[in-house]
Amino acid sequence: MKIVVSEFIWEEGLQILSEQGDVVYNADLWKEDLVRELVDADALVVRNQTRVTREMIRRASRLKVIGRLGVGLDNIDLAAAREAGIPVVYARNANAISVAEYVFAAMLTFARRLEEATAHVKGGGWNRRLYTRMELYGKTLGLIGTGEIGTRLAHRAQAFGMKILGYDPFIPPYEVACTEFGVQLTDLETVLSRADFVSLHVPLNSATRNLINRETLALMKPSAYLINTSRGGVVNEDDLYHALKEGRISGAALDVLVQEPPQDSPLFKLDNVILTPHIAGLTEEAQVKTSVLVAQEVVKILRG
Ligand code: NAD
Repeated sequence: MKIVVSEFIWEEGLQILSEQGDVVYNADLWKEDLVRELVDADALVVRNQTRVTREMIRRASRLKVIGRLGVGLDNIDLAAAREAGIPVVYARNANAISVAEYVFAAMLTFARRLEEATAHVKGGGWNRRLYTRMELYGKTLGLIGTGEIGTRLAHRAQAFGMKILGYDPFIPPYEVACTEFGVQLTDLETVLSRADFVSLHVPLNSATRNLINRETLALMKPSAYLINTSRGGVVNEDDLYHALKEGRISGAALDVLVQEPPQDSPLFKLDNVILTPHIAGLTEEAQVKTSVLVAQEVVKILRG
């Protein structure tokens, strides 16, 4: 069996794959000649940078399974995989806690400004009034998408004494968790107009692309913050830039961008933006879980 891994994977997962076959592992293979390696491959394991196209799938005539080290399958042509009879396996909820904790880090950063305060003190400042900020207690968290990550975030927000509003038109599988964690389910307009923090947890698809745009941003309070750990394409970056620059919302934390890595962006020039390189799900714990889970699923399919 030949197993091609085109992006970084944790040792624990690599070990499982190596016991099953010959692993071609190059964490940058997605930038190089991946197609050539796939011609006689039985399995392909990717993260989110490799674009698995219809053409790639067509040429990989021996391919039996595609493993995705994470959640969010928007980089894989799922229709082409389905038509070719190739199952796609992924790490459902393996990094959900990590993403939920990242959102807390972002909310607390906006609420308390520890890094800014540190720079202020190191620079000789001691302005305590300037750093008198706000509590998360009593604030409203708005969840767009209340699936694996959204419900874990709600659980943590409940412990902080936050009010939680949620919008998810396909709620049934998570209804019990939403009730348990105090999520009041409502419509998109209500979530956007009432939340102090709006956090996005939807997959990227034709319905969610540009969901956050000029019109939906206009519904948010000027004091509110937007946090995007879902996919860059869910937010219209141009509209967000103008909303932030004109003070129509207070700030944004973006872990994901339309183009990753970005070439340049007007967002870089703004002080009220937190930008991170798609790391919300990247913790040691989540990555061990993700690598093992996906490797096991891939092996299961290869063994038939
Ligand atoms: P999930 O499938 O468990 O939950 C997604 C929820 O979104 C579902 O409940 C679904 O009903 C809802 N939804 C779908 N379309 C919607 C719409 N139009 N409006 C509102 N809700 C809608 O997925 P998850 O594990 O919670 O992950 C969510 C997304 O987060 C993933 O698709 C992925 O893109 C992203 N993600 C990012 C990172 C990171 O490191 N930044 C890590 C993991 C996941």
